[in-house]
Amino acid sequence: ALELVDIYKAYGKLEVLKGVSLTAKDGDVISILGSSGSGKSTLLRCINLLEQPAKGEIVIGGEELKLKPGKEGELEAVSRRQLEHMRSRIGFVFQNFNLWPHKTILNNITEAPINVLKQSKEQATARAEELLKKVGLYEKRHAYPGNLSGGQQQRIAIARALAMDPQVLLFDEPTSALDPELVNEVLSVMRELADEGRTMLIVTHEMRFAREVSSQVVFLHQGQIEEIGPPEQVFDNPTSQRVRDFMSSHL
Ligand code: ATP
Ligand code: MG
Repeated sequence: ALELVDIYKAYGKLEVLKGVSLTAKDGDVISILGSSGSGKSTLLRCINLLEQPAKGEIVIGGEELKLKPGKEGELEAVSRRQLEHMRSRIGFVFQNFNLWPHKTILNNITEAPINVLKQSKEQATARAEELLKKVGLYEKRHAYPGNLSGGQQQRIAIARALAMDPQVLLFDEPTSALDPELVNEVLSVMRELADEGRTMLIVTHEMRFAREVSSQVVFLHQGQIEEIGPPEQVFDNPTSQRVRDFMSSHL
């Protein structure tokens, strides 16, 4: 489970997140929608502590990280080890895959389990091979990312995230960089994860997919939650006029 309490984030004078609170129970799939600049990526990056929220609380699997309002760098002062620990519990899948180009597929996946979770090479490799079979790319294990299609690279990125056995998986527009014919192979892997009961937060423009897999849909507007509810509500019968307008121009 993941709980966010009153998350704030600003870049200089630009307030990007203005008190976002959100709870994902175990097995929840939450889609995050909103127009460009509404703060979707910033929210995911704050959860993973790629950005430091100025204020708020993040609770993952019962372990909480309280962020006091204050100066830059305060979070590091809290505890470097705690930060790394929190991060290791969250899987992040980026729009542009972010695989290490000079490592083989297998080494991309085993790197963090070996170095962060202190798994043995054999253990990490066995798990990586299992995950590669799951995403249908076992035969590519000795290849390099540059020799794979975008859809394949994204499936590897998902396998890499899963190798850390995270509590929560975050996806930031995982199919936006892909040619249209490669989108479905990635969405079907994600659908499988949702069916397995993984807890997921997904920023996406794939409306049909979001409607099918989500337990909750969040609409962000200028750094605040404008509407949240089950997909039938947010897609078909939103209370907010702003969300209505968005849906009529995006469906
Ligand atoms: P998109 O749909 O285009 O990806 P988004 O909802 O993900 O948009 P964010 O990337 O979270 O939006 O950006 C929210 C706001 O914060 C934008 O105004 C953006 O310009 C600003 N912003 C994001 N990152 C930074 C940064 N590192 N420094 C300064 N401003 C930033
Ligand atoms: Mg974004």
